[in-house]
Amino acid sequence: MEEDDGEQMAQLPSTAKGFDPVLVQESNEMRRQAWAVAQRLPEKYRLVLTLRELQDMSYRQIAKTLKMSESAVETLLYRARLRFKEEYLASQREGELSHEEAVPLLAPYLAGKLRRPQAEAVRDHIASCSKCARRIGRRGVRRTGVK
Ligand SMILES: [Zn+2]
Repeated sequence: MEEDDGEQMAQLPSTAKGFDPVLVQESNEMRRQAWAVAQRLPEKYRLVLTLRELQDMSYRQIAKTLKMSESAVETLLYRARLRFKEEYLASQREGELSHEEAVPLLAPYLAGKLRRPQAEAVRDHIASCSKCARRIGRRGVRRTGVK
Protein backbone atom coordinates (compact mmCIF):
# COMPACT_ATOMS: atom_id res chain seq x y z
CA MET A 1 0.00 0.00 0.00
CA GLU A 2 1.17 3.50 -0.81
CA GLU A 3 1.85 5.93 1.97
CA ASP A 4 -0.69 8.33 0.64
CA ASP A 5 -3.12 8.23 3.53
CA GLY A 6 -1.36 11.27 4.94
CA GLU A 7 -2.99 13.44 2.38
CA GLN A 8 -6.38 11.99 2.97
CA MET A 9 -5.99 12.68 6.63
CA ALA A 10 -5.01 16.28 6.03
CA GLN A 11 -8.12 16.79 3.99
CA LEU A 12 -10.48 15.51 6.61
CA PRO A 13 -12.86 18.13 7.85
CA SER A 14 -12.06 19.49 11.24
CA THR A 15 -14.20 18.02 13.95
CA ALA A 16 -13.80 21.12 16.10
CA LYS A 17 -17.17 22.27 17.24
CA GLY A 18 -16.59 25.97 17.73
CA PHE A 19 -14.69 28.44 15.66
CA ASP A 20 -12.69 30.13 18.33
CA PRO A 21 -9.47 30.77 16.41
CA VAL A 22 -7.33 30.06 19.44
CA LEU A 23 -9.02 26.75 20.09
CA VAL A 24 -8.84 25.85 16.45
CA GLN A 25 -5.18 26.67 16.40
CA GLU A 26 -4.56 24.61 19.49
CA SER A 27 -6.47 21.70 18.17
CA ASN A 28 -4.61 22.00 14.88
CA GLU A 29 -1.36 21.86 16.76
CA MET A 30 -2.53 18.84 18.68
CA ARG A 31 -3.56 17.22 15.46
CA ARG A 32 -0.17 17.95 14.00
CA GLN A 33 1.56 16.36 16.97
CA ALA A 34 -0.77 13.42 16.97
CA TRP A 35 -0.18 13.00 13.28
CA ALA A 36 3.58 13.03 13.74
CA VAL A 37 3.25 10.29 16.32
CA ALA A 38 0.79 8.38 14.19
CA GLN A 39 3.34 8.31 11.39
CA ARG A 40 5.38 5.91 13.44
CA LEU A 41 2.60 3.45 13.98
CA PRO A 42 2.08 0.38 11.89
CA GLU A 43 -0.33 1.04 9.07
CA LYS A 44 -3.26 -0.90 10.52
CA TYR A 45 -3.05 0.92 13.84
CA ARG A 46 -2.90 4.24 12.12
CA LEU A 47 -5.83 3.37 9.96
CA VAL A 48 -8.10 2.23 12.76
CA LEU A 49 -7.23 5.28 14.86
CA THR A 50 -7.93 7.55 11.93
CA LEU A 51 -11.34 6.06 11.36
CA ARG A 52 -12.26 6.19 15.01
CA GLU A 53 -10.72 9.45 16.19
CA LEU A 54 -10.79 11.62 13.10
CA GLN A 55 -13.72 10.30 11.18
CA ASP A 56 -15.66 9.53 14.32
CA MET A 57 -16.85 6.20 13.04
CA SER A 58 -18.64 3.71 15.24
CA TYR A 59 -17.06 0.31 15.86
CA ARG A 60 -19.66 -1.08 13.57
CA GLN A 61 -18.78 1.24 10.71
CA ILE A 62 -15.11 0.54 11.19
CA ALA A 63 -15.77 -3.18 11.21
CA LYS A 64 -17.58 -2.82 7.92
CA THR A 65 -14.90 -0.62 6.41
CA LEU A 66 -12.05 -2.88 7.43
CA LYS A 67 -14.02 -6.05 6.85
CA MET A 68 -13.44 -7.41 10.31
CA SER A 69 -15.61 -8.25 13.28
CA GLU A 70 -16.51 -5.58 15.80
CA SER A 71 -14.64 -7.42 18.51
CA ALA A 72 -11.56 -7.50 16.29
CA VAL A 73 -11.95 -3.75 15.80
CA GLU A 74 -12.17 -3.30 19.53
CA THR A 75 -8.99 -5.28 20.09
CA LEU A 76 -7.17 -3.49 17.31
CA LEU A 77 -8.19 -0.09 18.65
CA TYR A 78 -7.10 -1.02 22.11
CA ARG A 79 -3.66 -2.06 20.86
CA ALA A 80 -3.42 0.93 18.59
CA ARG A 81 -4.14 3.30 21.46
CA LEU A 82 -1.61 1.63 23.70
CA ARG A 83 0.98 1.82 21.00
CA PHE A 84 0.09 5.42 20.25
CA LYS A 85 0.55 6.32 23.89
CA GLU A 86 3.92 4.60 24.01
CA GLU A 87 5.09 6.36 20.89
CA TYR A 88 3.77 9.65 22.16
CA LEU A 89 5.56 9.33 25.48
CA ALA A 90 8.73 8.24 23.72
CA SER A 91 8.58 11.28 21.50
CA GLN A 92 8.16 13.51 24.54
CA ARG A 93 11.17 12.02 26.25
CA GLU A 94 13.41 12.14 23.24
CA GLY A 95 13.01 15.65 22.15
CA GLU A 96 13.55 18.97 23.66
CA LEU A 97 10.44 20.90 24.48
CA SER A 98 8.41 21.98 21.54
CA HIS A 99 7.53 25.63 21.36
CA GLU A 100 3.95 24.85 22.33
CA GLU A 101 5.09 22.94 25.37
CA ALA A 102 7.51 25.64 26.39
CA VAL A 103 5.18 28.63 26.20
CA PRO A 104 3.02 27.79 29.23
CA LEU A 105 6.20 27.10 31.20
CA LEU A 106 7.82 30.46 30.57
CA ALA A 107 6.10 32.29 33.40
CA PRO A 108 6.78 29.63 36.03
CA TYR A 109 10.32 29.40 34.69
CA LEU A 110 10.86 33.11 35.19
CA ALA A 111 9.33 32.90 38.61
CA GLY A 112 11.72 30.09 39.49
CA LYS A 113 8.90 27.69 40.10
CA LEU A 114 10.00 24.83 37.91
CA ARG A 115 11.89 21.85 39.08
CA ARG A 116 15.40 21.49 37.77
CA PRO A 117 15.02 19.14 34.80
CA GLN A 118 12.05 21.09 33.57
CA ALA A 119 13.74 24.43 34.10
CA GLU A 120 16.73 23.19 32.12
CA ALA A 121 14.53 21.99 29.33
CA VAL A 122 12.87 25.39 29.19
CA ARG A 123 16.21 27.17 29.25
CA ASP A 124 17.46 25.00 26.41
CA HIS A 125 14.35 25.73 24.46
CA ILE A 126 14.61 29.48 24.95
CA ALA A 127 18.20 29.36 23.77
CA SER A 128 17.07 27.83 20.50
CA CYS A 129 13.76 29.61 20.06
CA SER A 130 13.72 33.25 19.06
CA LYS A 131 10.00 33.52 19.73
CA CYS A 132 10.36 32.50 23.32
CA ALA A 133 13.49 34.57 23.75
CA ARG A 134 11.51 37.58 22.56
CA ARG A 135 8.61 36.81 24.86
CA ILE A 136 10.91 36.67 27.80
CA GLY A 137 12.65 39.81 26.68
CA ARG A 138 9.38 41.66 26.47
CA ARG A 139 8.28 40.48 29.83
CA GLY A 140 11.66 41.33 31.24
CA VAL A 141 13.14 39.56 34.19
CA ARG A 142 10.68 41.44 36.30
CA ARG A 143 9.53 39.44 39.24
CA THR A 144 6.10 38.02 38.81
CA GLY A 145 5.48 38.04 42.51
CA VAL A 146 5.36 35.15 44.91
CA LYS A 147 2.05 33.54 45.54
ZN1 LIG B 1 9.59 28.72 21.78
